[in-house]
Parts: sequence; structure tokens; C-alpha cells
Amino acid sequence: MKLPRALSPSAHDFINEDQIHALCALPEPSDLRLDEILARAASKTPLKMEEAAVLLAASSPHQRQRVAAAARALKDAVYGNRVVLFAPLYVGNLCRNDCHYCAFRRSNKEAVRATLNPDELEAQVKALIRGGHKRLILVFGEHPRYDAEFIAEAVQRVYQIREGNGEIRRVNINAAPLDEAGYRRVHEAGIGTYQVFQETYHHATYAQVHPGNTPKSDYHWRLDSATRAIQSGCDDVGIGALFGLYDWRFETLALVKHADVLNTTLGVGPHTISFPRIQRASGVDGHFEHAVSDEDFKHLVAVLRLAVPYTGLILTARERPEIRREVMALGVSQIDAGTRIEIGGYTAEGAQRLEREQFEVGDTRPLDEVMAELLEDGYLPSFCTACYRLGRVGEHFMSFAQPGFIKRFCGPNALFTLAEYLEDYATPRTKAAGHALIQAELALMKTGREAAEARLAQIIQGGARDLYV
Ligand code: SF4
Ligand code: SF4
Repeated sequence: MKLPRALSPSAHDFINEDQIHALCALPEPSDLRLDEILARAASKTPLKMEEAAVLLAASSPHQRQRVAAAARALKDAVYGNRVVLFAPLYVGNLCRNDCHYCAFRRSNKEAVRATLNPDELEAQVKALIRGGHKRLILVFGEHPRYDAEFIAEAVQRVYQIREGNGEIRRVNINAAPLDEAGYRRVHEAGIGTYQVFQETYHHATYAQVHPGNTPKSDYHWRLDSATRAIQSGCDDVGIGALFGLYDWRFETLALVKHADVLNTTLGVGPHTISFPRIQRASGVDGHFEHAVSDEDFKHLVAVLRLAVPYTGLILTARERPEIRREVMALGVSQIDAGTRIEIGGYTAEGAQRLEREQFEVGDTRPLDEVMAELLEDGYLPSFCTACYRLGRVGEHFMSFAQPGFIKRFCGPNALFTLAEYLEDYATPRTKAAGHALIQAELALMKTGREAAEARLAQIIQGGARDLYV
């Protein structure tokens, strides 16, 4: 007999669909009302769902432009111009679920199934380190083989790997929801953020795309996952929705609500929010009734930034380079780059092979090309992992991020990790753009310039690595 799974003591279904649908139907706000909410957001106050709904209702180009400009300004105020880079590493694609939108669903007989053994995992990680990466997110399907112990061992192994001057300094996880003992185990292993996306917060759609005879069909187990993780000691959790399954306004407001519930009940909001748009996948036809247009996508990202000012907003390589470049300007703070999502893909030759991947990747450029573009666009690419090394996590992190003090650390640390990248991995084009940006950033520093210059000299001339504040 299947045992009931234990939800957290505070578990409740906070998604009130009638309320959210009513908020989705708000008319375009007056300029006065828009000003009022934008002023509140500019003060770095997290917005309530009702306030975010007013921003979401802005539909004229003029109002949307104002929302976009406010989002960019707020991101700069909280995090500065740094953009953190990471890579996903798919460890195994066995899966007991049958999510309609995913190539790894169990009914897809075309999917090539694989799980990296320890040596293969090491080869992938070394390839990523040789490319310049310092942060990974390990991705697992939902399968008895990928239990908390398996995930924890993979994390510990990754932390032990060295290659040249480099190593992975932060390992995040995207995997199935765990029970409390499971979260405690992966926390002990030193994970960074544990990501579980609700996919869709709309109950009927959730039931439709996650068949009832699969573990993922339990909406409430998944909705409660971030709470369980935090209550079991995981410092940082990531939430997300897969845009295109249901109305984008509904999902955006539900994400804001989820963030608000975590922040107000546990004192720790989501460390990251992800907003992937559904993409073509092996055995999945490309027609999605609720597909989100580029314009609406940009608007929802700006609204998320304004509503949850302290969170990391993750824009993934599902998106094409042109759209990534535009959306970056709306408050995104983290991106993946050099992404390969085939199991073993970082040592494989050739183009994407859909039958080996979860979905189609839109941005397949190498990391260095993405770095060069970021630098030339005036962003400060960062591989910083300082907060996790210094215990600035969970509530402690929020005490820096919520008032917007965190950029005092983000800026110098971005310079140090960029300098490492330029020394160890960059092409001449990226190196030139990177050094020019470092000089420009130093010139803008009001305090701490000498200390930063001294550390940069230690890295560039002295060969030191892994310096941070
Ligand atoms: Fe499995 Fe995740 Fe794909 Fe669903 S989305 S079938 S849980 S790998
Ligand atoms: Fe992230 Fe902290 Fe580094 Fe800023 S200082 S980039 S918040 S780890």
C-alpha cells in the first residue's frame, strides 16, 4: 500500500484561482495608479500579488516601457550590473513521470535513457571547468534511483573535482521534491539552491499534463516542496513555472504569491525564480495553446523583477540569443551559457539531438561568446560564489538582498571572478573587452577601489585564485 507523504506542518493551498483570475482581468491602470506601484517597487519593497497584478495589466507600449525601465533600474539598485553565469548538467534522465511537455516522459520510447556513472560525471565536470564554469545545476529525472543519497553523493563528488586552476564552487540541484529527511541529506552534502518548479499553478491544467498514475500528479506535495526544504535546513530554494502550459498572467501572479508566502511565513523568499518558456521536444508537437509572445514574456519578466526585488531571476538558454539579449535588460540576474542538455553533452561532438534532450535549446553559443556579448553590452559577468562560502545564505542572505546592500559584495566579487576567467579561459576578444570593463568599473568605485585593485593584481600578476569578499 502506498503511504501518504508527509506535508510540512504549515502546508496549505495558497493558490486561490478565483482571486487570481479576477486579478488577471484588471483593466489597464491609470498612470497615477501605475506611478504609485512603481514607486513602491523602487523602494525595494516586495509587492503583494494584488499590486503585481496592476503592473501586469499595463498593456499600452507606453506603460509597458515604464515598467521595463523601472525593472532595469531596480535590478541595478539591488545587484548592480553583474550577471551570474552557470551551466546545467543533466546527470540522469530516467523518469517515472509522464509530463506531456517533456521528452523524458516515461511513455516517450524515442528518448535515449542514460545516467552518468562517477567517471562520466567527472569527465563532464572537467569539461565544464575547462570552459571556465564555477557554478553548476545538476538535473535529475524523478526515479527511485535518484534518491537523496544519490543526489548527495553526486554533489560531493563534483566538489572534489579539480582541473587546471579551476573547480566547481557551487552545486545547485533541480530534481524531484524530497521529504524532510531527503532535504536534510542533500543539505549536509553542501548543495546550493534546491529548485523545484511547480510547472503550472493552475490545478486543472496541472492534472491534465501530469497524469494521475505518476508521482508528479500530486500538486500539493510539489507546492509544499520549497517550504519543506527550508524547514529541513536547505538555505536557498528556487521556484519556477513553465510558461505556455496555462495563461501567463495567472502563472506570474501565482509565482508572486508563492514568493510572498515563503517570505512572510518562513522569513526567506525564493533565492531564485525561473520562468522557462515551453519549447519543442522529442515526441511533443510544437503547438501550445498558451504559448507566450515575446512581448508578453518581456513584460512578465519585468513584473517579476519589480514584485520580488531580492530574488535571482534566471533566464535560460531555452531562449534564442536575440531574445535573451532583450530580456537581459529587464532585470535578469542569472543565465546559463555554453549549455548542453544531452546526457554527456559537454564531451560530445556535433549539434543538438532532440531524442537525447529534454527540449530544444535556443542558445547554443559557447560560454566565451556569451561572455563577450555581455561585456560588450556593459554587463559584468560573474562566477561569484562568495555568499555560500561565507554563510550569507537563507535569512542572512535576505538581510542583505532585501534592503539592496548585496551589490556591495556582488560588484567586487564579479571583478575577481571575471579576472580569473580572463586569465585562464578567455579568447583574445573576450579578454580585451573584459579588461576594459574592469578598468571602467574600478573608475566608478566610490569606496574600496584600492583593495579591489590589490586583489586583482594578486589574481592577474600573482596567480592567486578564489578570492572573494
Ligand atoms: Fe520527468 Fe521532469 Fe520530464 Fe516530468 S519534466 S517527465 S518529471 S524529467
Ligand atoms: Fe551572488 Fe553573493 Fe556573489 Fe552577489 S556576492 S554574486 S549575491 S554569491
